[in-house]
Amino acid sequence: LYNSLQELRGNIRVFCRIRPSFNMEGKSSIDYTGNDGSLIVIDPSNPQSTRKIFHFNKIFGPDATQDEVYKDTQTLIRSVMDGYNVCIFAYGQTGSGKTHTMCGPCSGLNKNFGVSYMALNDLFQISSARVDIKYEIQAQMVEIYNEQVRDLLKDMPAIKLEIKNCSVNGGLSVPDASTRSVQSVDDVLNLMKLGEKNRVFSSTALNNRSSRSHSVLTVHIIGEDITRCRIRSCLHLVDLAGSERVDKSEVTGDRLKEAQHINRSLSCLGDVIAALAQKNSHIPYRNSKLTQLLQNSLGGHAKVLMLAHVSPEADYYGETVSTLKFAQRVSTV
Ligand code: ADP
Ligand code: MG
Repeated sequence: LYNSLQELRGNIRVFCRIRPSFNMEGKSSIDYTGNDGSLIVIDPSNPQSTRKIFHFNKIFGPDATQDEVYKDTQTLIRSVMDGYNVCIFAYGQTGSGKTHTMCGPCSGLNKNFGVSYMALNDLFQISSARVDIKYEIQAQMVEIYNEQVRDLLKDMPAIKLEIKNCSVNGGLSVPDASTRSVQSVDDVLNLMKLGEKNRVFSSTALNNRSSRSHSVLTVHIIGEDITRCRIRSCLHLVDLAGSERVDKSEVTGDRLKEAQHINRSLSCLGDVIAALAQKNSHIPYRNSKLTQLLQNSLGGHAKVLMLAHVSPEADYYGETVSTLKFAQRVSTV
């Protein structure tokens, strides 16, 4: 049933989330109309200019809770248990709320868990409730930094990993990355903490802890029924590097190289999803490591959810428009 409902809605969906403003007095550049899925942005420096209108499958305003966001994601998680591959991406400029949506503040008293935690919680609950199918669940976590794939579950993630054809590698597109068997959400949370620790951080003008790499947490689900028939699927939870365009006068050397790799790989991801959305015959997977790694989980019967994040402050108008344009391009709405 989940899947028949999903099928009707197509395999690619795009949600937009607007984070609460940090600047109570300042003017916002976004006027969102909420439930009907359209969003209007107004140029704060020229309010008389033409308003830009964008349409998505769903829009979450600044007051939306983590639970509300997850509720609309849950059907995808259930389809993973039925054998579908699923990719969930968090896209947006640094500081727009990507990590908040994916992970949430998972430590301390404020357990405001994000999509990853809730998804894994559901996966484990569904798998333990099924008596007819025995599930084995494994996790991998890698990052893509400057077009190199690195294992985030090793303390020394220096070794570059190869991407292989997963149809001949038992469903693993990075067979040499650490693969850990996981029994509970806590097992995965511990892996995620280790992975986050190993992720590359460096400072930018915007956010001194901004992440300049894409992190990909992959959960492999292997189900075996009583006839020993196996089904295999995977869920990729991807926290993309910040999409902000870099002012070349401000950034040089390694930072400039990072920025160029990020811009290129994000535009390749956009090209691939847009090509899938338009049902093109050629899908340009080979143009970036990210799309190569996810190839088996983007096309065909796979399901894709792009969570586009925007910052509401007027200062970020340019970035907001560019994020919304990217999201609109990959959307089928
Ligand atoms: P990103 O990962 O895109 O760089 P973060 O998730 O780190 O952005 O968000 C930047 C800041 O904004 C963090 O302090 C985060 O806690 C806060 N934040 C983001 N989204 C929300 C939200 N929906 N509600 C409350 N705080 C948020
Ligand atoms: Mg982040």
